[in-house]
Amino acid sequence: MKIPVDRLNDAPTSFSFEGDANWWRSALATDSGLPGEIAEPVQFRCRAQRIGEDVQLEGGVDGVVELECGRCLARYRHRFSEEFRFVLEPARNRVPADPEGAEALARDGLYLGDELETGWFRGSEIHLGSMFTELVSLALPVKPLCREDCPGLCARCGANLAVASCGCEEMKSDSPFSVLEGIRDDLVRGGN
Ligand SMILES: [Zn+2]
Ligand SMILES: [Zn+2]
Repeated sequence: MKIPVDRLNDAPTSFSFEGDANWWRSALATDSGLPGEIAEPVQFRCRAQRIGEDVQLEGGVDGVVELECGRCLARYRHRFSEEFRFVLEPARNRVPADPEGAEALARDGLYLGDELETGWFRGSEIHLGSMFTELVSLALPVKPLCREDCPGLCARCGANLAVASCGCEEMKSDSPFSVLEGIRDDLVRGGN
């Protein structure tokens, strides 16, 4: 997953990479927050060109991972997609202030600023593996849901309401806070 800087010119060159199960395992080693499995190889796209001395990279990532729904705990396939575009300046002899950034510049020939839109490159090759891992991480939901309106599990009997309703439906509260409100009401009444 590398871009040969020396061979770029002012017309965009397209690159594509596939991240298979082996790549995913190596990504997991650097980012333990990623889900354990991919359902399909991850597809990476990148168009690279020179703009004067700078290098512009734009592209995206598409993939399908296996996630566990945060409400009903069912495993489901989640399709994700994320785009990127940034302009890199030659690093010359500048060194990023943060140690992680300095390490990335030495290792990958790529350092990205906090806003991920600008950065520096160094050397004749830019390695995109770490950046792609970060991009995948950004593309995944913080709270996975098998569907937006997943009703989750019954708080009383534990039945999966996404599959079938249970007998305690009418007892079920609308919000997780109504239980707390009930307790608060009891306390208020108890105090009087
Ligand atoms: Zn669900
Ligand atoms: Zn129930």
